[in-house]
Amino acid sequence: MAELTNLLDLDPAQLVAYCGELGEKPFRAKQLQRWIHQFGASDFDSMTDLAKSLREKLKTRAFIAAPKVLSDHTSLDGTRKWLVDVGNGNAVETVFIPEENRGTLCISTQAGCAVNCRFCSTGKQGFNRNLSVSEIIGQLWMAEFALRETAGVIPGPKGERQITNVVMMGMGEPLLNYEPTVTALKLMLDDNAYGLSRRRVTLSTSGVVPMIDKLGQDCPVALAVSLHASNDALRDGLVPLNKKYPLADLMAACQRYLEFAPRDFVTFEYCMLDGVNDTDAHARELIALVKNPRLTVPCKFNLIPFNPFPESGLLRSKNERIKAFAQILLDAGIVTTVRKTRGDDIDAACGQLAGEVQDRTRVQERMQKMSAYQEKFGKNFGVLVEVTS
Ligand code: SF4
Repeated sequence: MAELTNLLDLDPAQLVAYCGELGEKPFRAKQLQRWIHQFGASDFDSMTDLAKSLREKLKTRAFIAAPKVLSDHTSLDGTRKWLVDVGNGNAVETVFIPEENRGTLCISTQAGCAVNCRFCSTGKQGFNRNLSVSEIIGQLWMAEFALRETAGVIPGPKGERQITNVVMMGMGEPLLNYEPTVTALKLMLDDNAYGLSRRRVTLSTSGVVPMIDKLGQDCPVALAVSLHASNDALRDGLVPLNKKYPLADLMAACQRYLEFAPRDFVTFEYCMLDGVNDTDAHARELIALVKNPRLTVPCKFNLIPFNPFPESGLLRSKNERIKAFAQILLDAGIVTTVRKTRGDDIDAACGQLAGEVQDRTRVQERMQKMSAYQEKFGKNFGVLVEVTS
C-alpha cells in the first residue's frame, strides 16, 4: 500500500498538484488548504464543502498531523512553550510571546544545530536532523489552534488570529535546512493559509551567505542576522561559521538582500556577553562596520541580555553596560533595542531552547535550576529594562 501523505508537508502549489493527481480541480486545493490552515481541521469528514467522494479518497491516501506535543507550559508573563516530539528521542521547542498588540511565535527548523555558537545552548547539543515541512509549519498550526482554544476564539478566518508574527529563531539554522524552511514560509504568507505579511515573518540566520542571496530570490521575508561580534577575530570564536563567511561577505550579503526585503533594514542580533563583546570600543567598531562608507547596511540592533548556562563559561553583561552600549549605538543614529527576557521561569528565553530535550519531564528540577541561576547571577536574572529610544 502506498505511503500516506501528510498534507501539512505540501505548499500551495504542491497541494494543487496533489489534487490534480486525484483528478480534482485547483479550487479544491484552495478549499482543502483553508480547512487545514485556517480552520485547523485534521478530520476530512469535517470538511463539509468538499465532495464526499474526495473526502473518501483523501481518507485512504492522506492525513493531517503536526508533531506530538510532549509538554505545554505557560510562564507567569504569559509566554507559552511547547516541547514538540520530532522522533528518535529528539524534541524541539516552540514559544509564543504575547505582547499588547501582537503575538509572536518563535519556531524551530532543526533538531539541534551544527553551527555551535559559543553562547548558545542549542549549539552545545550538536546537530540531530533537519525538520520536515510538516514539522516546521506544524508548530504554527498546532500553536495557533491551541491558543484559539485557550482563548475561546473560533477557528476560521472570522476568528481573531492569535499569532500575528512568526520568527524563525528557535532551534537550528534555518538556512541550513533551506527547502523545507522556504516551503513553510510560503504557507505562512499564503492568503489561503495564514496570510501573514512578509514584514511579520522574520528569518534569523547566523550568516549563511549564499543562502541569504537565495532567500532574497525565492521568498524574501524580514531578515535578522545573529551578529554578536564587531570584528572577525571575535566572531570566529563566537560564531564558528564566520570563518567560512567573514563579516565583509556577510555585510555585502545583507546589503544585497535589502533590495528584495520587505523591510528597509536588517536586524542585527547581538548577545551581550560580559567582558567579551560589550565594551565601548566594540560598540564603536560595530558602527564603523555598518556605516562603512563603501558599504553601508541600514540596520537596527537588538541587544540580547545573555541567558547564562554553566557550560558556556560566559556571563551576562551588567544592565548599566548594556544601557551604555545601546546609548553609543543610539547616538550614532542606529535604532537599538534591548530585548526583554521573557519566559525565564520556563527556560523559554533565547539561547535556552534546548538542553531539556533529553530531560523533558523534569519541570520541577528546571524551576529549581532557574532559582540556582538567579542565586548565582543575581535576582535580576530574567528581568531587564527595554531601551527603545
Ligand atoms: S545561535 Fe542559532 S546558529 Fe548558533 S548554535 Fe544556536 S541555534 Fe545554531
